[in-house]
Amino acid sequence: MRIADVVIDRVIPGLDQAWSYEVPNELSVTVGQRVRVPFGKTQSLGIVSALRENEGFDKELTLKPVLEVVDPYPLLNPWMVELGLWVAQEYLCFPMQAFKAMLPRNIRLKPYTNLAAEEVCSVVGPRPKRGRAGSRRQQLWNLLAERGPMLKRELLASMPEMRTTLRDLIKEGTIAVMRMDKAQIPAGTEPHPSPYVLNEEQARAVEQIWAGPAGSKWLLEGITGSGKTEVYLQLIHKMIHDGSQALVLVPEIALTPQTVMRFQSRFGNHVGLWHSSLTDSERAKTWQAVRKGDLAIVVGVRSAIFLPFGHLGLIVLDEEHEGTYKQEEHPRYHTRDVAFWLADHTGAKVILGSATPSLETAFFARQHLIGWIRLTRRIGSRTLPPVQIVDMREELQEGNHSIFSRALQQELTQALGRHEQAILFLNRRGYASFVMCRDCGHAVQCPRCSVTLTYHQNQDQLMCHYCFFTMDPPKICGHCGSRRIRYFGAGTERVVEEVHKLWADARVLRADRDTLRTRQSYYQLYQDFVEQRADVLVGTQMIAKGMDFPHVSVVGIVAADVALHLPDFRRSERTFQLLVQASGRTGRGERPGKVVVQAYEPEHFAIQSAMSHSYDGFYQQEIEFRKELGYPPYGNLWLLEVADPSEARAQNTVSRIADRIGVLADMGLQILGPAPAPLPKVRGRFRYHILLKGPRNPEIVAILSKIEHEELSCSITVDPYYML
Ligand code: ADP
Ligand code: ZN
Ligand code: ZN
Repeated sequence: MRIADVVIDRVIPGLDQAWSYEVPNELSVTVGQRVRVPFGKTQSLGIVSALRENEGFDKELTLKPVLEVVDPYPLLNPWMVELGLWVAQEYLCFPMQAFKAMLPRNIRLKPYTNLAAEEVCSVVGPRPKRGRAGSRRQQLWNLLAERGPMLKRELLASMPEMRTTLRDLIKEGTIAVMRMDKAQIPAGTEPHPSPYVLNEEQARAVEQIWAGPAGSKWLLEGITGSGKTEVYLQLIHKMIHDGSQALVLVPEIALTPQTVMRFQSRFGNHVGLWHSSLTDSERAKTWQAVRKGDLAIVVGVRSAIFLPFGHLGLIVLDEEHEGTYKQEEHPRYHTRDVAFWLADHTGAKVILGSATPSLETAFFARQHLIGWIRLTRRIGSRTLPPVQIVDMREELQEGNHSIFSRALQQELTQALGRHEQAILFLNRRGYASFVMCRDCGHAVQCPRCSVTLTYHQNQDQLMCHYCFFTMDPPKICGHCGSRRIRYFGAGTERVVEEVHKLWADARVLRADRDTLRTRQSYYQLYQDFVEQRADVLVGTQMIAKGMDFPHVSVVGIVAADVALHLPDFRRSERTFQLLVQASGRTGRGERPGKVVVQAYEPEHFAIQSAMSHSYDGFYQQEIEFRKELGYPPYGNLWLLEVADPSEARAQNTVSRIADRIGVLADMGLQILGPAPAPLPKVRGRFRYHILLKGPRNPEIVAILSKIEHEELSCSITVDPYYML
């Protein structure tokens, strides 16, 4: 009797999702296929996660049969099923939640009956353990790992002696055979080679990665403008000529218009885009094109990591340090970890690119766990801009109450006089981040969230940035009745107003979540500024990366330390990254440019190292802190969050959970909390946190997995990025 393990498309708290069914003789079922099965008193759809013979199975047990095979071919190829099961285990979710992340919504796929379909062999498992070096098994594996996927027909024609070896490796799951369309190159655009001759460092990077073994992982560390993107482009050019596919991940498509355009202009309609504003049908179309091998390159956001590539050769994570690579909802994966899994199981190479690598990645490189390539020079002879740091406490003492220091004012005046452009960063939108009574100190709070409301001048409204609650600004204090209401904590709107006051003729653009809601508005803003239809661009971190403006000669960072006091262990890392990224926005044209950093705590090492453009300096200090306190990369972290509209119930739940995880202390985990979350109330829910730090093993994961699946108001995030 054949038995299929089927992951049921239903989430029932506390219940395992995979159930066993008998496969009737007349049905042909493969792993990854969708099937209909009886479930309780009804039926359910599910995905076959494993097939086996009934050996060792209790004969007394009569299994229900698989009723129907839904699609004529598997929706998920074998490595995707394996990946889904791994993601479920790694990030404590149900397998179906992981599978769903891999499938376009409302899948309506045409049956896969293309006659041009060919059988393609590719490496999906690790190098075979049995077999001497030089044995047929090794030879075949090496060949496929090096060359990438091959047509089975061609492989056997040239090496008929490999027939049995191939069969064995397929049986073991080391090599997979998939049916796919012959990669059809769409008519019209032949990719054109680079207009540039690579410099020495770039050429070496391309060579090293190209020559590296299948599945190798690399940190490509290079300051902005050092030519990383050109390295990706040229490697991909080689890859697709070799018949492989490439995936380029960017933090957010809308924020990187230039990167996207460079891929499109180099590779034309070989490039598909994958991002959140695609419609369901566009999504399904791209998904199919990737699966069939019609699309050679995808540029996309994190969820593109789950696209069904048949012969993936390269994965690039550009700006790999960005927090957007961590998914906050189920499955709560980190894109870098999934990319590493893919490298290990499909042989794709991975490049992590950044000017300011995450501490984890920098650590892996220094431990030789991944390759490490540095681009140390900017293209051309452009230098990094000098950075001047201004202590805003002194400005205040010397009577300057403006949000701009005298140094920044002077630089701006000069730049505008020379018809050059300036960018001003402030990582806070709105006009004022809080509204407070001068007499009693009462600040207006959101009634549903424990945060102060932000004043937005354009709408003349107070708004909550967590739940979007809005209200009219009060004329008198709700607490003491005073009329002395004041606005504090400047946001981007306020910066624009100050620019208008000081430089009446300057044309100003504002870039934040309020002004840039669509990809179109983003391209528009980019075009307007690059073509100098404005002089000053005021924005949040949205504009800190990926944009190249040759006429910008001054970058001002209005408040460098806004994030330094958040209760989040990545606060220094984030501050450092933001400062470096922001200062990379100048000095891209002919002039070296100038950066002015305003801070209330300028002596902080994150600010000091950013000022001297020293990643190593920053890393040395930060890694010590991580080591001392056991934060990643030195320990694993789990954030347990309980959120409930009833405060009493939230407290009850969190103390019950605290009891349940008490045993973890004996397994070497440090348990912090339970305590109210830094934001104790959001959208009307009371929030409590427990933070776990320490080693990780299957026993620990099993306990946490049970809690995640059984406690409905508790969610557990592995290696969280959002700690508030
Ligand atoms: P990064 O991705 O590291 O910021 P880019 O690849 O965007 O760097 O390169 C910066 C600029 O230099 C881009 O405008 C790019 O077109 C140009 N460039 C890159 N490589 C070369 C090269 N070898 N010769 C000339 N220009 C180059
Ligand atoms: Zn008051
Ligand atoms: Zn709110």
